[in-house]
Amino acid sequence: NGSLKVYERLKNLVAEHGLLAEVDLVKDVSHEGIGVNISGCHGFCQLGPLVRFEPSGLLYCKVQPEDCAEIVETTIINNSVVERLLYQDPNSGEKVKTQDEIPFYKRQVRVTLKECGRINPDDINDYIAHDGYQAIAKILEGMKPEDVIKEVTDSGLRGRGGGGFPTGRKWSFAASQPGPKKYVICNGDEGDPGAFMDRSVMEGNPHSVLEGMMIAGFAIGADEGYIYARAEYPLAIKRMRKAIADAEALGLLGNRVLGSDFSFKIHIKEGAGAFVCGEETALIASIEGERGMPRPRPPFPAVKGLWGCPTIINNVETLANLPAIINNGANWFRSFGTPNSAGTKTFALAGQIQNTGLVEVPMGMTLREIVFDIGGGLREGKKYKSVQIGGPSGGCLTEDKLDLPLDYDELMKVGAMIGSGGLVVMGEDTCMVETAKFFMGFVQNESCGKCVPCREGTKQMLALLTKITEGKGTEEDLALLEELAQNVKDGSLCGLGKTAPNPVLTTLRYFRHEYVAHVRDKK
Ligand code: SF4
Repeated sequence: NGSLKVYERLKNLVAEHGLLAEVDLVKDVSHEGIGVNISGCHGFCQLGPLVRFEPSGLLYCKVQPEDCAEIVETTIINNSVVERLLYQDPNSGEKVKTQDEIPFYKRQVRVTLKECGRINPDDINDYIAHDGYQAIAKILEGMKPEDVIKEVTDSGLRGRGGGGFPTGRKWSFAASQPGPKKYVICNGDEGDPGAFMDRSVMEGNPHSVLEGMMIAGFAIGADEGYIYARAEYPLAIKRMRKAIADAEALGLLGNRVLGSDFSFKIHIKEGAGAFVCGEETALIASIEGERGMPRPRPPFPAVKGLWGCPTIINNVETLANLPAIINNGANWFRSFGTPNSAGTKTFALAGQIQNTGLVEVPMGMTLREIVFDIGGGLREGKKYKSVQIGGPSGGCLTEDKLDLPLDYDELMKVGAMIGSGGLVVMGEDTCMVETAKFFMGFVQNESCGKCVPCREGTKQMLALLTKITEGKGTEEDLALLEELAQNVKDGSLCGLGKTAPNPVLTTLRYFRHEYVAHVRDKK
């Protein structure tokens, strides 16, 4: 969006006015001057580049390099506001000054995204100044691995990558395995269309992921970890590499962390963009240098994972929650969310919605609150039709499901899932059969081909959906599609195939009349 140009221009202008702080204000707040810093993503994608003032919280949107002279003159020198750069609420037309007052941010509770958009991700000192590496220090000062597992189990944290498996339980399986060698893998292979939560955390607060991996490593007795990140995320990989090097240089990572007996080494493995490599066993195969194809389970990776050793795989968002849980305690984490789904969850809001971007909300918030209060409702006065939740593994939900609390179990009951957190909002003129076809095309393309139900089934389902959308389908095709979807769900080897029919099954369940209209009206 040109943020770096804005940053350079603003910094140069502040320096030209003799106002630029000569020391790093993060490290030494006693000095005077204006610090100009970069940050990771603030979450409100469509309004970038954003410029925020600390400590006032004043926020300017869609800032261009040519606006910077006025910002310096008006705001920095004369302590006033450049009205035209303020956020304007599209519904009320009101201008809003500070970030916290903007409806998009107001209802959010930020745990994993708390420092994204605040700290400089390339500066380890900035992370340290915001309580960074406090959690691992606390652990090394006097906690035992079982204490850490208990704290995480008590917190109720569940895997944020899609499955929602309790994190503490997963760790206790790996911790109880014998053997000197164990691994921690950070799954950053976010491949869902429309999802960029993990990318944002890796780009915006990379040290929180490293610290999360160290906490996991200490808990299960691992001394080595891998970050598996998509090669399509070059900035995230660059920042993670720098974060590793900086943490090692300060003795916060590597041999004898903070002078303790705990050592932990982290490597980065770049994925080649295969969606299936987000599946745990395929990801392990890929790190081992094999073709990224899932393996039958059991044995589960916690028992026999990377190079045959006990391994836990947690996704980026799960790991980034850990420092806050250790610092603030399990009860604090449980104070957000629902009894069965504690904490917060990050969602990527996209589609025909006013406000697009990344939002982090307490679990249990309803879809209506996210779509209308945070997302501002639909664009151009369109009527709401559906929200596709959970990417290709998820489902499409109708208006009567808008008051459903977003939690792992409630969504399962209606045939959908939180997945990694993609939310695509659709208006009244969206064809739900085309939507199902889009997701089917995606999974068909990404099917690794190892097992017949997924390899052949998704291909035939896509062919049927194409036939129906071209106005050549029959009532028998609808019955066949439904039967096939159930067979692919029941017979596939891995999660990709097992969940691939979800968009078709939910649209058949909630929007059957649209399939029937295609078939009857031959359109
Ligand atoms: Fe591969 Fe699909 Fe079978 Fe998974 S379900 S192993 S992606 S063919």
